[in-house]
Amino acid sequence: MENIVSSKALVETLKTQAKQKIKYLEETLGILPKLTILMAGDNPASKSYVAKKVELAKECGMESDTIYLDENKFLEYDKVSTDLNRMPEVNGFMLQLPCPNRLIEVNETLKDGFNINSIKDVDCLEEQTYAKMLDNEDEAFTPCTPLGILRYLEFLNVDIEGKHFAIIGKSRLVGKPLADLLLAKGATITICHSQTINLAKAIENADVVICAVGKKDLLNKDNVKPHHILIDVGINKVDGKLYGDVSEDAKSIAKIVTPVPGGVGPLTVMSLITNTIDACYMQNGLNRPSWQVK
Ligand code: NAP
Repeated sequence: MENIVSSKALVETLKTQAKQKIKYLEETLGILPKLTILMAGDNPASKSYVAKKVELAKECGMESDTIYLDENKFLEYDKVSTDLNRMPEVNGFMLQLPCPNRLIEVNETLKDGFNINSIKDVDCLEEQTYAKMLDNEDEAFTPCTPLGILRYLEFLNVDIEGKHFAIIGKSRLVGKPLADLLLAKGATITICHSQTINLAKAIENADVVICAVGKKDLLNKDNVKPHHILIDVGINKVDGKLYGDVSEDAKSIAKIVTPVPGGVGPLTVMSLITNTIDACYMQNGLNRPSWQVK
């Protein structure tokens, strides 16, 4: 369908820029950006997300590694994260979520944060980093999915100022920051969640509906309108196949729809790479690079 716009071309554009920016660092300073991912537990979805992040980092020419903390090593999170904060060659690191509750219980630092310095917090896990983003500070990092979605909207030529956005889902890494970021850009926002009584009514007049819930077919022919631009963030695996939150029949009704797979997901991974490159530039006294979507 013509109204389904994949993120492939946008990801390729960002990848080309990433390679150029990495080459510049290598040629001028003799360094490569490095991303480290901490992984605890054996959630199969998390393992596959981590593999995608490492693969894209390698493809762009960056350094990257994964530190697995098995149950015997849970107590090491404090030490490992403190070391990573100190290592100049590591520009960004993150803990892949969700992580086992036991990891949080046994580590002092995980009680009120992730022990990641803001300058290396490329996944925007810490509240301090989030606050910097809200204050629009130069060195602040935006969470990867919202950053990818902002780039997608620009790529799709969707104006933000003055437009009505309905965001379904209010999680800390997706719905909430998106609402804050779009509000700062002059959008009118409706936020929907599990207690929203009449979803169809709540989203009816929105220009853009961003759905980040994780419920297949939540957006369907009963609540999608022909004027809707649908950004489908949801990931649902059913019988080994991936689906978003938008039903097949709703796709033929909406004005524009982003696909799953091939939509927001690859842009989220790409944003982690661009954030790490930004971190490397800033940590080495260079201006934060700019990124073009076209
Ligand atoms: P989450 O923390 O579980 O949040 C889900 C949100 O959906 C909550 O705010 C919840 O409301 C709301 N919700 C649940 N049922 C609802 C309903 N029937 N109607 C309206 N809202 C409802 O999940 P998340 O981490 O934000 O992720 C959401 C989805 O996006 C998942 O499928 C996840 O796999 C996917 N995801 C994709 C990417 C990507 O790159 N494509 C990245 C991150 C996440 P309450 O707050 O009231 O409970």
